[in-house]
Amino acid sequence: MTKYICSVCEQQYPVTDFLFKCDCVGLLDLKKYVSFPLKKIIKREPTMWRYREAIPIDSDKNIVSFNEGMTPLIDFSYNGFNLRAKMDYIFPTGSYKDRGSSVLVSKLKEIGVKRIIEDSSGNAGASIAGYSAKADIKCEIYCPDYTSKGKLAQIQLFGAKVNRIRGTRADTSVAVLKDAEKIYYASHNWNPFFLEGTKTAAFEIAEQLNWESPDNVICPIGFGTNYLGLYIGFKELLENNVISRLPKLLGVQSNVCCPIYKALLTKKDNIPAFPQKRPTIAEGICSEKPIHEKLILKAIKETSGAITIVSDNEIKKGIKVLAGYGLFVEPTSAVVIPAIDKFYKNNIIKPRQKTVLILTGSGLKATEKLMKMFVK
Ligand SMILES: *Cc1c(COP(=O)(O)O)cnc(C)c1O
Ligand SMILES: [Zn+2]
Repeated sequence: MTKYICSVCEQQYPVTDFLFKCDCVGLLDLKKYVSFPLKKIIKREPTMWRYREAIPIDSDKNIVSFNEGMTPLIDFSYNGFNLRAKMDYIFPTGSYKDRGSSVLVSKLKEIGVKRIIEDSSGNAGASIAGYSAKADIKCEIYCPDYTSKGKLAQIQLFGAKVNRIRGTRADTSVAVLKDAEKIYYASHNWNPFFLEGTKTAAFEIAEQLNWESPDNVICPIGFGTNYLGLYIGFKELLENNVISRLPKLLGVQSNVCCPIYKALLTKKDNIPAFPQKRPTIAEGICSEKPIHEKLILKAIKETSGAITIVSDNEIKKGIKVLAGYGLFVEPTSAVVIPAIDKFYKNNIIKPRQKTVLILTGSGLKATEKLMKMFVK
């Protein structure tokens, strides 16, 4: 049986307990068993749930799913690089967050939760709200005031209540933590079941490459649900001898809010808060203080990974480059293009290597912003 286990004091709790952190304030991990019966897996429907034995939901009848996942992995070349784009913007609510929401909301259904709160700059809120609508769970989403109107409309149309909080993303977190004392906090950042969903991207990439690791995977990183999902996923594949090595996991931050980048530069063994002074078009990765700091640093070290930063101007060029290949993404996702040049300059990636870019969110999510940027 799957159990919560505290990452600090190792206290265990049943997953039926309504908690999001340990009594000692430590983050909760999962004690679980996973396996990869490849012969069975390849015969199943092409969704993220084909890796069923690796997803810790006890009973199939609790699965809340739109048959999402197994997104395309397509070849393209840019600046002489041999790239593959993982089209993780093709999901029911428009972002890869649906991987995490499908598993988290399934678990909520399994343990009988009927009402939840969650905080998000937009995509996670829209995703949790969409899956809650399917599971008939009452949902309230806390968002920063500046969140795109389109994302707010999406959340409200799914029937969730929106609480707009003045100030930064960090102020939104403070507001939700206060109410989390009374209502189940279905946090995509705290709750380990969310990462049990995002990890399926690693399984799909490996399967799409004939059960091999790419050399590098580049993705945006804020709180790290994408980055850590990849780390956990590739690690489980390695531990089960499905792949023979881990890819380098390469994260990209905005230069306006880059706590992880800075912690590495200054060789810290934690990630100090990085107060954000200006807005950026990469609104999805503005996390002043990632809560999984220890795990992120461990993942970087263990995969020989790295973090780089990019500016809004570079992101704008990235949007155009991707759109030139027919790949329509929101600004946050386009950080991966300028990152290629930076990782190359720092000798971290090479043109001939297999490099996968994770495209996390649909351009249709940011129509307003893209119009302001590109339509005269
Ligand atoms: C949430 C999100 C990210 C990154 O998520 P973190 O978990 O904060 O690292 C990247 N791109 C998009 C489009 C997102 O919605
Ligand atoms: Zn503890």
